[in-house]
Amino acid sequence: MADVTPTPGIHHVTCIAGDPQRNVDFWVETLGLRLVKRSINQDDPGTYHFFFADAEGTPGTSMTFFPWEDLPRGKVGSGQVSRTAFRVPEGSLDYWEARFDEYGVDYDERVERFGSEARSASEDASGSEPRAETVLPFYDPDGLPVELVAVEIPDDDPTVPWTAFVPEEHAIRGFHSVTLWLADPEPTKELLRTMGLEEVGTEQSPGDTPGDERTRFAASGPVGKYVDVLPTIQGGRQGHGTVHHVAFQTPTDADQEAMRRAVQSAGLSPTQQIDRHWFRSVYFREFGGVLFELATNGPGYVSDEPLDDLGGRLVLPGPFEGRREEIEGKLADVTIPRPATAEADD
Ligand code: ZN
Repeated sequence: MADVTPTPGIHHVTCIAGDPQRNVDFWVETLGLRLVKRSINQDDPGTYHFFFADAEGTPGTSMTFFPWEDLPRGKVGSGQVSRTAFRVPEGSLDYWEARFDEYGVDYDERVERFGSEARSASEDASGSEPRAETVLPFYDPDGLPVELVAVEIPDDDPTVPWTAFVPEEHAIRGFHSVTLWLADPEPTKELLRTMGLEEVGTEQSPGDTPGDERTRFAASGPVGKYVDVLPTIQGGRQGHGTVHHVAFQTPTDADQEAMRRAVQSAGLSPTQQIDRHWFRSVYFREFGGVLFELATNGPGYVSDEPLDDLGGRLVLPGPFEGRREEIEGKLADVTIPRPATAEADD
């Protein structure tokens, strides 16, 4: 285990949506993320794959979707990522609540997590984490549970805010965390330690499964730093509004191979490395049933489109380009929202 480089955190989260236009409208316009890649599901090329991220597609910022219109609505349950949380600058939750009212977004009351008690308990171990934080839970149009967490964004933060629809001082700044719902959390907790995350706190969890204990693990950060684990016996099923998988950063091929061997030694069955064009990936289903991916940081979303043009066209990786006409024929037309100010003078 000593040769495993701890993961810096979440790389991307991939979810299942219904209508592709509604998905793009919400994540680009309402939430203000940048569509950094418009592509296809490489295992199902008749389906779009949308990547929404910060301005530059920084690792730890991309929320991606397969709009599988034929699937039914899913149900969040054990063996899934139950919630995906994004960072927003401290003080911006009032802005977001007003925006959610304006756009008719379904949201819940704010909850406080890891208040003074948990903080003081953890000071012995790590000095500063976890910090008390305010969380605004909400749902995307497919019912996907999402959260905004107000955090202090340092000046040297690696994320780059995209300001087409949301001003910089309120813009989403990559992932904060994922929460895993698990029937038996213990083997997964051990796996997270194998991957280099550290347990940093526990508390009774408000705003989630009532009465259950939330255990927080921290990666080396700073983006996509946390994985929270909650026990639940509630069964789920995959469909619209659920997470398909969560990917963790293994920055280099060597990091990834070492991590792959470590999870194999832990008793899991990781795939060989698969070339996903913008990163190289290894997949495995962890002990609780959640599909995990390890993803390299390179080549990145700017490897096949200039930064200014990210998401501007349908990108068909490798051999799929030769089938462009057939593939485009299967995909619904989708219009990417543009800010009103850019259209006004056209
Ligand atoms: Zn993935």
